[in-house]
Amino acid sequence: MMATTHVFVALAVVAPVASAVPEFAPALAAGAVLGGLAPDLDLIFEHRRTFHFPLLGGVATGAVLPAAAIVPSSLTVGIAAFVAAGWLHAASDALGGGPEMDPWTSPSDRAVYDHVRGQWISPRRWIRYDGAPEDAALAVSLAVPALLVFDGWVTTLVVAGIVVSLGYALVRRRVVAWLPDWLE
Ligand SMILES: [Zn+2]
Repeated sequence: MMATTHVFVALAVVAPVASAVPEFAPALAAGAVLGGLAPDLDLIFEHRRTFHFPLLGGVATGAVLPAAAIVPSSLTVGIAAFVAAGWLHAASDALGGGPEMDPWTSPSDRAVYDHVRGQWISPRRWIRYDGAPEDAALAVSLAVPALLVFDGWVTTLVVAGIVVSLGYALVRRRVVAWLPDWLE
């Protein structure tokens, strides 16, 4: 899935909370956006392994959610949104394709690393690859709750994210040819 899809998943999840408790909306949005992006920073280490916790992330989320509910503040709520968004990112990576740029010729059997069992989870390919038409459709539909609930910088970011997602999806199958060999 595209980075924007991960961010929109997280924003869609926190949107009802932000709607119910508007004073925490900025913290929820910031946590969701950063948490949706953060796991992929492991591109420079071992991608889909170093910062991806598809199971342990759920345990961490189970710990920070009650903490934020008991001691609600922008900081605790933002951290909870960040941890939950990072977990959803890692868990949903298992539902997409592998991290390869060129799934047509070299599909990978590694979606995301399960640190608990010490093995790779294989891709379900419900979303066949990042930037697939179904990925773009998912991204746009998941962006709707965020557009309805948030305003200000979040709206700007979401609109920009939709434009980038659609543009990327349009050229996705040609991107491979433009990349230097070492990136593939
Ligand atoms: Zn990822």
